[in-house]
Amino acid sequence: MQDNKAKGTDIATLGEFGLIKHLTKNIKLKHSSSNLGVGDDAAVIDYQNKKTVVTTDLLLEGIHFDLMYTPLKHLGYKAIAVNVSDVYAMNACPKQVTVSIAISKRFTLEAVEEIYAGIQLACENYEVDLVGGDTTSSLTGLCISVTAIGEADEKELTYRSGAKVNDLICVSGNLGAAYAGLQLLEREKRIYDNNPNMQPDLTGHDYILERQLKPKARKDIYERLKEANIVPTSMIDVSDGLSSDLMHICDKSVVGCQIYEEKIPVDFETHKMAEELNMNYSTFSLNGGEDYELLFTVPLDKFDAVEKIEDVKVIGHITEASKGNYLVTRDNVEIELQAQGWNPIKE
Ligand code: ADP
Ligand code: MG
Repeated sequence: MQDNKAKGTDIATLGEFGLIKHLTKNIKLKHSSSNLGVGDDAAVIDYQNKKTVVTTDLLLEGIHFDLMYTPLKHLGYKAIAVNVSDVYAMNACPKQVTVSIAISKRFTLEAVEEIYAGIQLACENYEVDLVGGDTTSSLTGLCISVTAIGEADEKELTYRSGAKVNDLICVSGNLGAAYAGLQLLEREKRIYDNNPNMQPDLTGHDYILERQLKPKARKDIYERLKEANIVPTSMIDVSDGLSSDLMHICDKSVVGCQIYEEKIPVDFETHKMAEELNMNYSTFSLNGGEDYELLFTVPLDKFDAVEKIEDVKVIGHITEASKGNYLVTRDNVEIELQAQGWNPIKE
């Protein structure tokens, strides 16, 4: 468990403008569409004849992350990754981000530098330019808000509303891993809270921890779909859990769905964690949030093409709306999908 209040440089020695200058001094713009970045009243972006997509997420300490076990560099990385993931879910290419941050007094300059190291690493990995933001102080916790901006050809944009009857339902990677990681971290935190002399035991769980603390946006899947000339009929990134997110597609597309439990990809470590906690791993894969995998539909005649894409699985198909939204279990029982959704506001 970490201590973010360790001694370091007081931010007050730089002041707001000094801090912004310090944090943004190494930024080099990569894209020709980034006409103007940090330093004026607003950034200037030019996508010429493409469509622009814009998406924002807000991360609040105590609601979306816990600094007891979240390394600041990972947090910065995650803030960017979850936003570019939304851009990929539109089948668009992220190009710019803005980062707004509210920091409490207990943060040192070194702590903020850590957050920015994660932000910059993610900006490099996802090839996006940091073109602006806002910086202020917070009386309570840390708050990070990122806006991601991207481009796409109009005919390539993919909405939640485009799924058609008989389309195949596909998902990238595996599901439930980020939730399994969260369960582990919360368990170890409870043990530590009860006895601070106990050191957390996280060995053998590297994969699910990484999925929770440093999630990946599926840039690779976006690129492979493009290479395969596949424009999904609908797409969403799995942030609230497979059930909820698939139901968003069904709602918006006015269709039903049938997915098969045995086809839902689940990693071995997720299985193992569910077992340790005496839980059903399908609960993790259906309802666990924050996987940031891409869930999409393609026409039936794309079956061969989509099967060839590494790390993509077909898990079911779209049905008439009147048939409802169903999961077929391993025992061949049909269960209606529930939108349990990972929504911190409801907790
Ligand atoms: P304003 O008063 O017009 O909001 P600021 O002083 O807040 O201007 O910001 C000055 C410049 O620094 C702007 O270009 C803004 O986008 C950028 N900026 C401010 N905070 C951040 C940050 N946390 N990360 C990146 N850029 C930032
Ligand atoms: Mg400002």
